[in-house]
Amino acid sequence: MSRLLLIGPPGAGKGTQAALLSQHLGIPAISTGDIFRYNVKNQTPLGVEAKGFMDRGEYVPDSLTNALVRDRLSHEDAKAGFLLDGYPRTIDQVNELDSILADGGKRLDVVVQLTADYEELARRLAGRAQIEGRADDTPEVIRRRLDVYDEQTAPLIDVYAARGLVAMVDGLGEISEVTARIIEVLEARGLTADA
Ligand code: AMP
Repeated sequence: MSRLLLIGPPGAGKGTQAALLSQHLGIPAISTGDIFRYNVKNQTPLGVEAKGFMDRGEYVPDSLTNALVRDRLSHEDAKAGFLLDGYPRTIDQVNELDSILADGGKRLDVVVQLTADYEELARRLAGRAQIEGRADDTPEVIRRRLDVYDEQTAPLIDVYAARGLVAMVDGLGEISEVTARIIEVLEARGLTADA
């Protein structure tokens, strides 16, 4: 039973690691970015509202994002634990998640902070732009996404560090190496596949 957050700048490898950890721990990986992209692709009302913000590298408003996560965490598969990838990203979202968890009498176990230097992030994002052709992977939008992360999301790490929840993991290196590092810090905190 684990409740984890994965925090890190765009390009740090959160999505890749979230999928691998989800398998390892047997809990769903919930990515707000993936949910938004799915809604954009299917032109749902949420997708239509979110698209402009995403295309500019801005955050989707907290009201929309918070409602989406509150709903998703109420699903049966999230009862036994979850790994949130890319949420919370603002203080308002931290407060909402606190409230969702408090309502369910639950608490977070650990916040994994994935680190990578700016040049590596820019390089990875540019590479991914070629492969995935995401609308938000142009050089200008990449720069904006990194700035928005620094302004709005990086400060959240201090909030969770003050609660003793942050485990910092170097996101540089082979995918499997990074996964092994994360599993190591989780095990050091008593979180294992069967815990
Ligand atoms: P990601 O794939 O996590 O980088 O998310 C892609 C885009 O979706 C972001 O640049 C935002 O526009 C939007 N998004 C994803 N998660 C959030 C969030 N927690 N709060 C606001 N916007 C988000």
